[in-house]
Amino acid sequence: MSLSHTCRHCAAPLTERFLDLGHAPLSNAYLDAAGLQAAEVTYPLRLNVCSVCRLVQTEDYTSAADVFGADYAYFSSTSSGWVAHAKRYTDMIIDRLGLGAESLVIEVAANDGYLLQHMKAAGVPCLGVEPTTATADAARAKGIEIVEDFFGLTLAESLVAGGKSADLILGNNVYAHVPDINDFTQAIATALKPEGILTLEFPHLMRLVEHRQFDTVYHEHFSYLSLLTVQRIFEANGLRVVDVEELSTHGGSLRVYGCRSAASHVAADAVDIILAQERARGMDTPDFYKGFQSEAEAVKDAAVRFLLDAKRDGQTVVGYGAAAKGNTLMNFAGIRPDLLPRVHDAAPAKQNMFLPGSHIPIFAPSALDDTRPDYIVILPWNIADEVREQLSYLAKAGTRFVTFVPELKIV
Ligand SMILES: [Zn+2]
Repeated sequence: MSLSHTCRHCAAPLTERFLDLGHAPLSNAYLDAAGLQAAEVTYPLRLNVCSVCRLVQTEDYTSAADVFGADYAYFSSTSSGWVAHAKRYTDMIIDRLGLGAESLVIEVAANDGYLLQHMKAAGVPCLGVEPTTATADAARAKGIEIVEDFFGLTLAESLVAGGKSADLILGNNVYAHVPDINDFTQAIATALKPEGILTLEFPHLMRLVEHRQFDTVYHEHFSYLSLLTVQRIFEANGLRVVDVEELSTHGGSLRVYGCRSAASHVAADAVDIILAQERARGMDTPDFYKGFQSEAEAVKDAAVRFLLDAKRDGQTVVGYGAAAKGNTLMNFAGIRPDLLPRVHDAAPAKQNMFLPGSHIPIFAPSALDDTRPDYIVILPWNIADEVREQLSYLAKAGTRFVTFVPELKIV
């Protein structure tokens, strides 16, 4: 694959750096004990911002097929909060669009059927597109039809040729993860019925910057999106924005509603309200994108200082949550087992493995019962409340909880 330094959307040359986190392995490349004996591949983790369309994007390094290989399997259903979010969405959208037995819903990145199971239970015909074999199999076990492939224009054309045009196409946390965002957007325009609706959920770049969430940057996350830029990408690819909602998921997300350019839907006021907020913060100017590197470094410096002080004072610190966010921070900050000797995680597939890059070993949460650390650093800050509640018995024994983003906080 030839490396391009032009914008993934508008092909303008990329000349403005937004963030440079150095080199890092892929965030889900967990290692087993044998893997520690082998060389580890790292890639540059840098974001540029397009000076024309303001799409913030990873610098090209590898292909999507490498990233979402057969051995990468995140099962959405393991998060009860996420499944509940999917159920609320399903109830809302069935009511809003009047979906029924004559409709067709297509979910892109259907994962293990965490959402379409609710659609199916409501009697709405549905189809999932999912490239990862293990999750596709889990969805099929729930009785959901899955096309095991990447979603794009070629697949959309074959779905339409097979009579499968959609009343609703939805994608949760997939739009920011597709390398060819134009092809993906055209594919949605192609697979929708003339009056069909699409909804896409993705982290809102405005909130990412506001809350210094640089640790949500990883290689698999190709695009960092404002509504201003999404509107532009839609309009260049046969779609338009008709509504938008702000969600609290992933530190602040947008749910964008769209339709084909020629459809009759009238845009809601919320679209202009969010666009005006983004302009008020300067997201349509270069200045907005210039200060983020120093914000990220401030978070990193405070994290390292906390760990060094704790070590000097003889206090024990462990991590909780072996997720992508933690890996980005560990690798950027150079935190290794001498400063953070272990991380605990509830996912059995990660236990007895090692974090990529930092090689911090992963233990089950039950191992905390013996160690009773002075501090637990909750790496996935978006579920900090949930984790503190689960581990409240340790707080009673004197353990304190720490989060690093947006700033060092000890409770
Ligand atoms: Zn561009």
